[in-house]
Amino acid sequence: MTAPERLTVGERTDDDYTTWTAAELVEKIHSREISSVEVTQAHLDRIGEIDGKINAFLHVGADEAIAAATNVDEALAAGVEPTSALAGVPLALKDVFTTTDAPTTCASKMLEGYRSPYDATVTMRLRAAGIPILGKTNMDEFAMGSSTENSAYGPTRNPWDLDRTPGGSGGGSSAALASGMAPLAIGTDTGGSIRQPAALTNTVGVKPTYGTVSRYGLVACASSLDQGGPTARTVLDTALLHQVIAGHDANDSTSSRREIPDVVAAARDGANGDLKGTKVGVIKQFERPEAFQPGVLEAYRSNLSQLESQGAELVEIDCPNFDHALNAYYLILPCEVSSNLARFDGMRYGQRQGDDGTHSADEVMSLTRAAGFGPEVKRRIMLGTYALSVGYYDAYYLQAQRVRNLIAQDFAAAYDKVDVIAAPTTPSTAFKLGEKAEDPLAMYMFDLFTLPLNLAGVCGMSVPGGLASDSNLPTGLQLMGPAHGDDRLYRVGAAFEAGRA
Ligand code: GLN
Repeated sequence: MTAPERLTVGERTDDDYTTWTAAELVEKIHSREISSVEVTQAHLDRIGEIDGKINAFLHVGADEAIAAATNVDEALAAGVEPTSALAGVPLALKDVFTTTDAPTTCASKMLEGYRSPYDATVTMRLRAAGIPILGKTNMDEFAMGSSTENSAYGPTRNPWDLDRTPGGSGGGSSAALASGMAPLAIGTDTGGSIRQPAALTNTVGVKPTYGTVSRYGLVACASSLDQGGPTARTVLDTALLHQVIAGHDANDSTSSRREIPDVVAAARDGANGDLKGTKVGVIKQFERPEAFQPGVLEAYRSNLSQLESQGAELVEIDCPNFDHALNAYYLILPCEVSSNLARFDGMRYGQRQGDDGTHSADEVMSLTRAAGFGPEVKRRIMLGTYALSVGYYDAYYLQAQRVRNLIAQDFAAAYDKVDVIAAPTTPSTAFKLGEKAEDPLAMYMFDLFTLPLNLAGVCGMSVPGGLASDSNLPTGLQLMGPAHGDDRLYRVGAAFEAGRA
């Protein structure tokens, strides 16, 4: 057997900026010892060198990134204060956020070549923060999937083993981080799409509390679940990015007005590794050895012992309704998808089929949707349409919404007893490309541990949990926090990360 081909980020060296953390880069950029242009160029070079093998980017905007970096360097040279704590550090953006200077495809044929007339709020905040955008990253089509294989533009490969998936739907962003093509990336998490690829690529990913990162210009998958969030290779870098993108936005009707907790201070505070007085919940319903690859369970147990050795107290919590989370999620999500994706009808966005004067408008819509959507997207539109139809609505959608409420109550009761909850992020390490592609149910099962918190609107993080001894591939420790308690994730996540070092 030949060893798997690996393209992970190199060992930290002074002369290779692609091996540095964002916090290290920004310090030297702001003190003008190095320039944002050099740093941005180093990452563009790395993309040019290796992305042919990984396929993390659907679009690279080299000129735009260098122009943004030049602006930062010039402002610093003129003595202007940096516009943010990350000004000058380049980033990879999931191709589900609109951008005026690059295509937005959501990895779908439907939106091939589509150019948005406006920037998403997240995009605008990144630009205002002086963060050069390297390009748009690959994903499962319209963020539906757990492997990035549902991309119409070919799968992304896991830098840890190019025959394996980086997870999904945000596999492109996580693979870019893990391979040193970007120090920062943005993802979206509807049922795990930030946390799960983070776990599979040894990176950090956070799903912020619902309503704290604007969805304006985020192409909708399931609006009541979708949330943009930060990803990076360290907890502190993730916190720095969190602070740039979070905050109220009048353009998003579900945007919260609550103040965003100081996640950067929390990450710095956690870095001393002290967890004395911290109560960490362990969910009884997740104690299912048969659901896990043995090496993942072993890594998770050793993660829990580490938390204990750092002073945390483990508390068993009961979340009886979590047993129904997967079923509820895979009803609610398709229902919202069937409604949200109705807008892709060949009339307004992207491609159009049958526009030769011989077809009626209905036929054009039907031909366009048949040609533009991939199989998983079609499956979910059909499931959702069915579940919402007269006579079935009460039995499916309404029932799922009730379960959703019960899950939120389980979380609320748990946070009366504990500060955060710990769980494995995924049931196994990265699986082989093609392994689950023909079995949608097996693919859905992969989300078992990540999707409950989306249903409840609370927050979660995946932080590297070490390699599984039986596959030598990364695992993730998932931390979950209460609504608007995102700072807890960063404090405990940073402490855990420090404890592993
Ligand atoms: N894998 C889940 C799904 O397919 C989650 C996707 C996501 O978070 N966007 O729905």
